[in-house]
Amino acid sequence: MTTKLHIYASSKLDRAAHLRVHPDTLQSYRNSPDSLVTIVWRHMGLFTASDDINPYFIPASHAREIFDLAEEVVFLGLRDNRPVLAAMLPHSESTPELPPLDLAEGTFLDLRDHWSLLNKEDAAIMAYARGLNHWHKHHRFCGHCGNPTRSTEGGHVLECTGSNCGKLHYPRTDPAVIMRVTDGDWCLLARNAGWRAGGHSVLAGFLEIGESLEQTVIREVKEEVGITVTNVRYHSSQPWPFPASLMVGFTAEGSRHDPLVLDSNEIESAKWFHRDELIASPEDETFNLPRKDSISRVLVDDWLKER
Ligand SMILES: [Zn+2]
Repeated sequence: MTTKLHIYASSKLDRAAHLRVHPDTLQSYRNSPDSLVTIVWRHMGLFTASDDINPYFIPASHAREIFDLAEEVVFLGLRDNRPVLAAMLPHSESTPELPPLDLAEGTFLDLRDHWSLLNKEDAAIMAYARGLNHWHKHHRFCGHCGNPTRSTEGGHVLECTGSNCGKLHYPRTDPAVIMRVTDGDWCLLARNAGWRAGGHSVLAGFLEIGESLEQTVIREVKEEVGITVTNVRYHSSQPWPFPASLMVGFTAEGSRHDPLVLDSNEIESAKWFHRDELIASPEDETFNLPRKDSISRVLVDDWLKER
C-alpha cells in the first residue's frame, strides 16, 4: 500500500527533532548562508512580488533585520540539508500594520489562495510555519496558572515561566474526520448554508474526547443526515493547519433508501448523486465540488476514477 501524500504534507523536509535541544546549533543557523527563512505575518506567508507567485525564502545571512523584529524564530527542519527557519512577525488586532521592513521584492499573501501555483514541498513548509505561528500566538500564557510562556526547543515547546508551575505546552492538532459515504454507484454529498453557490462536499466533523475516529464518522453522519453507516475504512489523512487540524479521511457505506433527516443547524441540503451525474457535472455556480487542495475533493475524485 502506497502512502497518499496530500497537499500540505511534505515528503522531503527532515524535521530533525534531535537538533531542537541544541540551542547553539540553532543559533548558528541564524548566521549560516545556507539557512532559508520563511516569514509569517498574521496568517500570511511571504511571496515574491512578481507575476510568478513563488515563496520568498530569504537567506538567513540577509535576515538580520527580520530576526530583530520577529517575535519568534522557529526551526522547521532541514531541506536538502539546508536549515529552514520561520520568522514570526508581531501583530495584534490593535496594530494590524506590517512592521517596518524592507521587503521590496516580497508581498504577503494567503497560502490557501495560491497553493496551486506552488510546488508541494514549498506549500507544505509554508503551511507548517503558518500552523506553528498560530499556536505561538494563541499560547502566550500558561493555561494552567496564567503566567507568560517562553519558547524553547527551537520553538516547538512553550514553557511556563511561573516559578511554581513550569508546565510544558506542546503544539496542538485537533483531529477531524471527513468521510465519503457511498451506496454502489451513488455518493452522498451535502452543502452548508454558508458555502459558495452550488458548493457540495462530503460530510466532516471534529473528534470528541473519548471517541475513536471510526465512532466519530458514524456519529457525525447520523447527526448531520440521520443515516447509519457501516464498513468504515481509513483512506488517508491531510495536514490542515488552517488553523490547527488534521483531516482524517474515511470511506463508509450507507443506504440511499434510508430517509435523510438533516441537522438544519449545519446542513442546508444533502442528496445522493449518481457517479455519471458527478462526472458530467459542469463545475459552475449550480454545482461544484471542493477545492482541489482538499482531501474532500480527493475522496470524491478517487471514487469517480474507480470505475
Ligand atoms: Zn503555568
